[in-house]
Amino acid sequence: MLDYEKLIDFVHRNLILTKIYKNEDMKNHTTFKTGGPADLMIKPGNISELQAVMKYIIKERTPYIVLGHGSNILVSDKGIREVVLKVEDNLNNIQVIGEKIVAEAGALLTDVSFQAQKHGLSGFEFACGIPGTIGGAVVMNAGAYGGEMKGVLEEVQVLTRDGEIRTRKVNELKLGYRTSIIQNNGDIVLKAALSLKKGDKNEIKKLMDELTIRREQNQPLEYPSAGSIFKRPEGYFTGKLIQDAKLSGYQIGGAQISTKHAGFIINKNNATTTDILNIIKHVQEEVKKIFNVDLETEVRFIGEK
Ligand SMILES: Cc1cc2nc3c(=O)[nH]c(=O)nc-3n(C[C@H](O)[C@H](O)[C@H](O)COP(=O)(O)OP(=O)(O)OC[C@H]3O[C@@H](n4cnc5c(N)ncnc54)[C@H](O)[C@@H]3O)c2cc1C
Repeated sequence: MLDYEKLIDFVHRNLILTKIYKNEDMKNHTTFKTGGPADLMIKPGNISELQAVMKYIIKERTPYIVLGHGSNILVSDKGIREVVLKVEDNLNNIQVIGEKIVAEAGALLTDVSFQAQKHGLSGFEFACGIPGTIGGAVVMNAGAYGGEMKGVLEEVQVLTRDGEIRTRKVNELKLGYRTSIIQNNGDIVLKAALSLKKGDKNEIKKLMDELTIRREQNQPLEYPSAGSIFKRPEGYFTGKLIQDAKLSGYQIGGAQISTKHAGFIINKNNATTTDILNIIKHVQEEVKKIFNVDLETEVRFIGEK
């Protein structure tokens, strides 16, 4: 185990708004509500304090991972040995400038989409029901109902793994289907600038309401999950493949393939991450065997293997 006491001391001495959590239960920081404890979680108070923490981390070569709302994450039951930088709550400022929205990485997509609607800005309706942060959405190129981050994103401000603040234009991010360069380059998203269009407030609201109803009707939102567990393989619908493999309702421990939407694994009853991983493996094997299709996970696994 790494010695975090020096880092804790550094934060206590130098940073006023940043909070530290030792041995923090990750069940409380993931929408799946599973996973073991993180040795150390840091919630930076603002961008300059995050930059200060990062400078320390770089100097001491401390391993770190970034967490947003934890809605596309599976945390190991053994927990996390790296420092978790939790970019939410404090870094959530949203600014509307003409037809542009500049949102800090921790702002929730729901809040940004409601701000867009309030200011009569169209183009971000697709994101109103995605339960993540702007930072997580950039990294995942989140999308739904025909829209995706790539379509509205102009540029992002990032903190690089060298501790520098940089602006990256959308075409530098290599946004693809649920991928971006940031998944591998160690950048931390600080802010995103979205380019939207003037629209009718009532029409925008109507569309957001319709999309919300569609989600409520089709997705098992009453249970903890991470949304679609697998990416959509080209030419197929994941949910239909899983259903056709007769795996709807398949259960291991407290985890189950949703009977409402087979593309979702739900935490039905005190599931562990191991239960969920075992279901993932079983589904991948069955779908390969029956349809010769490879299913790749969309959800990202973090923590001790
Ligand atoms: C019920 C439900 C429905 C969903 N529906 C959709 C949907 O329709 N479309 C869709 O695309 N997704 C959907 N998702 C998945 C998820 O909400 C999105 O992927 C979301 O964008 C993840 O954001 P997050 O803040 O939760 O990121 P996290 O899950 O916290 O992190 C995801 C990845 O981003 C990285 N990351 C997070 N923040 C930062 C940052 N500031 N800087 C650098 N890296 C960062 C993390 O290290 C991790 O690799 C759904 C999830 C649920 C639970």
